[in-house]
Amino acid sequence: MSGPIQPAVLDGHNDVLLKLYRAGGLAAAETFITGRDGHIDLPRATEGGFGGGFFAVFIPSAIDLDEKTEQMQRPSYDLPLPEPIDWEDALPVALTEAAILFRLEELGALTVCRSAADMRACLAGGRMAAILHMEGAEAIDPDLHALDVLYRAGLRSLGPVWSRPTIFGHGVPFRYPSDGDIGPGLTDHGLRLVKRCNELRIMIDLSHMNMAGFWDVARQSDAPLVATHSNAHAVCAHARNLTDDQLAAIRDSDGMVGLNFAVAFLREDGRMVDTGLDQMLRHLDHLIDRLGETRVGLGSDFDGAVVPSEIGSAAGLPALREAMRAHGYDEGLMKKLCQENWLRVLEKTWGG
Ligand SMILES: [Zn+2]
Repeated sequence: MSGPIQPAVLDGHNDVLLKLYRAGGLAAAETFITGRDGHIDLPRATEGGFGGGFFAVFIPSAIDLDEKTEQMQRPSYDLPLPEPIDWEDALPVALTEAAILFRLEELGALTVCRSAADMRACLAGGRMAAILHMEGAEAIDPDLHALDVLYRAGLRSLGPVWSRPTIFGHGVPFRYPSDGDIGPGLTDHGLRLVKRCNELRIMIDLSHMNMAGFWDVARQSDAPLVATHSNAHAVCAHARNLTDDQLAAIRDSDGMVGLNFAVAFLREDGRMVDTGLDQMLRHLDHLIDRLGETRVGLGSDFDGAVVPSEIGSAAGLPALREAMRAHGYDEGLMKKLCQENWLRVLEKTWGG
């Protein structure tokens, strides 16, 4: 095949910065260019037409991943929420992961985008577009000083919680079957965080937030409601997925949802075992039905989840495009789902 694969995918979520942090920090950044054992690197991105997207800064909890995987392969499960992490402990990790992203930029692998115009320029020039995102606000202090500084460094998107409590709110556990109606909503700190994000025009990410927190943001925020990597609860009744009521609120705010490729959030039985691409199409159809064609995108969770083996990594995105086309999505819809809807919502959230 000659020339770049179209449409390039702008993607709602990846955890490659965490993977590089664990693989040695700044010293591991080079492997992003030469190729690494994971979902995203430059060779895989070129092969699959991965145009970039949200790069998450995430503070890992000390959890046993093998144990988590084993439990999530069962017919039902309810993993306890990990302990909160103090911001004094989280901040150095967050700074290291953000520094890795800036090193990738220095190495010429990508551009850290601060506006939709930056993103469009990357797409036009065939350069990977990166948005600095934080998944869980553990590294933000109660006075929000770190937020102001990180915004000026390039932070443009923030999830107040991962599946873990913070001083700002409460996350949903990895629980199936369940909905997200678990625990209280945003704290007073959380309400101030939303207000300040609105002022700075930092996008607020609702993925991982519990139901009460979701509705608190829906009430407080003046920006479109966005869940970067979540699926439809009507198709897979996982606590992480969005109910039709939540999807209606997202539609009414003119926000959007990025389809999560994680098999446990795709499969109707919620199990973390392989699944076919037809299951992704079921979620896409439902999301399009509820949100409309301009409010759905992709949010792979590459390097942070078990994804369908037919995709395997960013290099496997052509298989997904092929399945979407075979399912009857025309080229106009393909372009919206793969990139235009993210650009539309970011432009609206960040300003022109
Ligand atoms: Zn996530």
